[in-house]
Amino acid sequence: MNRVRFAPILLLAAASALAQAPASQKPTAPAAIKSFDAAAIDKTADPCADFYQYACGNWVKSNPIPGDQTRWARSFSLVGERNRYLLWQELDSAATKPKSALEKQYGDYFAACMDTGLIEKKGLKPLEPAFQRIATLKDARHLAAVASELEAEGSPMPLFNFGVEQDAKDSSKQIASIGQGGLSLPDRDYYLVDNKHFAEIRQQYIVHMTKMFALAGDTPEQAAKEAAAVMQIETALAKASMARVEMRDPQKVYHIYTVADFQKLTPEFDYSLYFKAVQVRPFETLNVATPGFFKGLNELVAKEPIDAWKSYLRWHTLHSAAANLPKAFFNENFAFFGKELAGQKEPTPRWKQCTSMTDRALGEAVGQDWVKQNFPPAAKASMDQLVAALEKSLGDDIKTLPWMTDSTKKAAEEKLGLIRNKIGYPEKWRDYSALKVEREDLIGNLRRNAVFGRNWDLDHLGKPVDEKEWGMTPPTVNAYYDPSMNDINFPAGILQPPFFDFTVDPAVNFGGIGVVIGHEMTHGFDDEGSQFDGKGNLREWQTPEDRKAFTERTDCVANEYSGFEAAPAKGETAAQRLNGRLTLGENTADNGGLRIAYMALLDTLAAEGKSINDKIDGYTEAQRYFLGFAQVWCQNQTEQSARQSALTDPHSSGRWRVNGSVQNFDQFGKAFGCAKGQPMTPANSCRVW
Ligand SMILES: [Zn+2]
Repeated sequence: MNRVRFAPILLLAAASALAQAPASQKPTAPAAIKSFDAAAIDKTADPCADFYQYACGNWVKSNPIPGDQTRWARSFSLVGERNRYLLWQELDSAATKPKSALEKQYGDYFAACMDTGLIEKKGLKPLEPAFQRIATLKDARHLAAVASELEAEGSPMPLFNFGVEQDAKDSSKQIASIGQGGLSLPDRDYYLVDNKHFAEIRQQYIVHMTKMFALAGDTPEQAAKEAAAVMQIETALAKASMARVEMRDPQKVYHIYTVADFQKLTPEFDYSLYFKAVQVRPFETLNVATPGFFKGLNELVAKEPIDAWKSYLRWHTLHSAAANLPKAFFNENFAFFGKELAGQKEPTPRWKQCTSMTDRALGEAVGQDWVKQNFPPAAKASMDQLVAALEKSLGDDIKTLPWMTDSTKKAAEEKLGLIRNKIGYPEKWRDYSALKVEREDLIGNLRRNAVFGRNWDLDHLGKPVDEKEWGMTPPTVNAYYDPSMNDINFPAGILQPPFFDFTVDPAVNFGGIGVVIGHEMTHGFDDEGSQFDGKGNLREWQTPEDRKAFTERTDCVANEYSGFEAAPAKGETAAQRLNGRLTLGENTADNGGLRIAYMALLDTLAAEGKSINDKIDGYTEAQRYFLGFAQVWCQNQTEQSARQSALTDPHSSGRWRVNGSVQNFDQFGKAFGCAKGQPMTPANSCRVW
């Protein structure tokens, strides 16, 4: 399943930033998380001047970032840590006393990861077959064969991403798709932007690669030469890459080619060898998401000396395995990718890393027991009700939109009516019986899992779409909208306090999970999702005038958020602003979610004979709604990570998810008695939905 078009509520940390810590760091049970936290509020702040500071100020002050984190968020991090701890308990018990074949399988997967003594003893041996294969590389024509064989064996294919996705213009078909790859740094900007900040990072990256090659046994001179060669190739690939903002436009990443025509784009790289190696069924056409990248890759294959390609493949073999190699490699990898690039002070404890790794590999196996323990049937029934309430609100919102013509409103309502909801966990669990797991072979497990995952994905080619498949595992604290499926998905992991709490008043739940549901629904109608119709096909359903009005409104949001600062200036390094174009879909979804969840709350209160002005513990229902919403996003983030996120994460930082959203919603000013023209109630605000 291709996940490029998924729109999640937040971006989860990349696995590459994880590294090893002493095994002695023992897991501890995290405390329960409050849904509404009056103690988090900074009463010295003016909610009309800076609502985020008001709602979160005390929490931010008293919750510094733990050493093993780069971002510490009141809800997502705390719930994530809690879910991971519960999952760890399950894995730890399965690793010691498995009660079923499935428990034995994931217990062994986890145990292999935890065995740092064995990792140390094995050294680089597990990578030797890959290194030997790379050493056989003869000439440029041979590159396709060697790179393909490496991927066939479960090493990552660094150059590009190949998989199966729904045809953007005919969502009933599952087609082959290929897109750009090849980089190790978080974004092409890291290679290309000409300023001191990035120049320093590039310099440190070269030093890091040199150290890694030296650790792998190369002489200092050789290591330095190899690092320079990798930098040259990755920089050229970065130049050929499409920018993230462009990648968000589904039209720009849709180019159907015949296999023969695609091969003409990159004649130097023989794709027939690759397709054969990964054992994909024969096919005639495919989507080439980024043709420019493949042209660039072709020039590079012809131009770079064969030794440079050897270094490049060696680097990616080392780099991708670094977190699961002996300590010296872990530590060096962490020093650069964790500490330097993301500001993480200490490595992630091993038990956390192994728990997450097992969840990624066998999520629907470990998830089966997890939901039995942590997701009561009553939770699903309540969610069904909440989703229905939000659907009604979005329908009402569409009906009353000031800028949309009636015919387009009808089309929007039709699309809304076709959105499917998936709540909790899959009806049918994935079958992992073909995945062989060995308790004493961590790297082998990772490889076999890569092959297993690829086979599972490629098996979709040409088959009917299975609407019941999930793209996230049950314990995940996240949610997503998929425009090709036109469905919203809420894993069991997010359906708990502080997002969702049976024990609190509806205002707080609507501010929490209600806004999350509204956010995902609005993704169907953001600048990206709105280009797909109710059946998940890339097809215009707005009239040209409506599309023009829509774009004027999304431009307003993009410009507004581009003015927000993600990280302050530091020394000679300029302040980092958000990219309003990169975050446009998420900001639109936040704004829409806040509005329609509020409307759903009004309906719910009215049905119960209550008013939005009723007070509980000194706050009106309206105030509790906005506070409940804001407190989902209280967070601390390292400066390095904030800068990285501003370039790579399509979500705005917590402060702006809160302040940006309330600034555009007039009910906020009313709830807190703000005068027009104050920072949270600007004279000119933006509204799409
Ligand atoms: Zn989202």
